[in-house]
Amino acid sequence: MYEPIVGVEVHAQLTTSSKMFCSCRAEFGAEPNTNVCPVCLGLPGSLPVTNRKAVEQVIRTGLALGCEVGTLCRFYRKNYFYPDLAKNYQISQYDEPLTFGGRMELSVEGRPVSIRIRRAHLEEDTGKNIHLPNGRSLVEYNRCGVPLMEIVTEPDFRSAAEVREYLLQLRRLLWYLGVSTANMEEGALRAEPTVNLRDPETGERTPKVEIKNLASIRAVHDAVEYEIRRQYHCLETGEPMQQETRRWNEAQGITTVMRTKESAEDYMYFPEPDLVPIEPEPEWVEAIRAALPELPQARQQRFVAEYGLPEYDAQVLTEDRATADYFEAVVQACGEPKACSNWVMGDLQRLLNESGCSITESRVSPQQLAELIGTIKDGTISHNIAQAVLPKMWATGHSAREVIAAENLALISDATEIEKLVDEAIAANPKAVADYRGGKEKALGAIVGHVMRQTKGQANAAVVNELILARLNG
Ligand SMILES: [Zn+2]
Repeated sequence: MYEPIVGVEVHAQLTTSSKMFCSCRAEFGAEPNTNVCPVCLGLPGSLPVTNRKAVEQVIRTGLALGCEVGTLCRFYRKNYFYPDLAKNYQISQYDEPLTFGGRMELSVEGRPVSIRIRRAHLEEDTGKNIHLPNGRSLVEYNRCGVPLMEIVTEPDFRSAAEVREYLLQLRRLLWYLGVSTANMEEGALRAEPTVNLRDPETGERTPKVEIKNLASIRAVHDAVEYEIRRQYHCLETGEPMQQETRRWNEAQGITTVMRTKESAEDYMYFPEPDLVPIEPEPEWVEAIRAALPELPQARQQRFVAEYGLPEYDAQVLTEDRATADYFEAVVQACGEPKACSNWVMGDLQRLLNESGCSITESRVSPQQLAELIGTIKDGTISHNIAQAVLPKMWATGHSAREVIAAENLALISDATEIEKLVDEAIAANPKAVADYRGGKEKALGAIVGHVMRQTKGQANAAVVNELILARLNG
């Protein structure tokens, strides 16, 4: 019985301000061919200089993935001709990568899955060909030389669901480390899975297929699932298979042949003669390790252990660092972790979505949200009223107590005032009173409802209940 063998190669653009080997800007979305110079265009006589920040970001990522950091890391030239590569070679790494031998632990459908990370290394991005409808093609070199981190796993995935979970976790990790925007639509994160099938008894394998043109994590999942099915089908029907690169066709939900795979020899790798090897000093590596933030998986576990949050809440809140920071600031100001979680994931998130703001741009600060939650806790307003107060805080910038005072929303807790209303309600509902005295406890609802209607929901429900019981049982 054959089993799927899947590995994943991820390319992530780093968030350095300049390119890998020159001082051109590395931003996304600039006018075409404006961020270029003799180095990234590979003009004769130009010399590359390594971007230290990019090296640091890869080491940072490697350490977070549990990798070792190499002591001597060399750049290689990967030689090939393509119009988007003005130099005719790409500077990459070969057998002496910056970091190697890491691991990522996943939980997939309740099962633990351990994925080995083969390496996280550094290379430069290529330019981009743009094919026009009239048959002509344009070349955009702004991306040429942008630092690119390559993260390669061992072929440890056995299903498309495992690949999806890995990419979700990896993307969250890159966000936490602040090393990449990891935006797949902008091409800042690209994932290329390799898929084949293996018979664990005989070791027999189908040829390895690499899948390209995947613009979302969902597309990666669907493409891997399709490719596994396709290869099983080929095995059954005896249809020939070969080592090749296939393209995902999102609209049709199928993979089609793009090209048959070149072997590593085709690239004629040789050490880059213009760059000295990188020898990261141990003190530098340790300083980078010490400066790592709390990593998302650890933070998620801590939210469960420390705040007693459900697994689901902990996962949503730690999806990005800013949301987790915001949540913790609210808890610090008011306690009540579960209530804070509900507000951050619910009403606040809705306001953020509606206004297209990120949480760092929230118009309600963590302290203001904490104050609002406090007004429910101390009985100043009900939860329902608080839900109406938050959008007003967002719109006006006022605090919860300011909004409550300005709109006269505080609950009526004054016993003499409520007593009067309770007496009226009892007088107006003789049947409910009789029913209650006859043993129908539910009949109380009609009397409570009467008071609430009179006060438009602003009577303190606990006080109302207490006074009604006192009257009827007294
Ligand atoms: Zn340049």
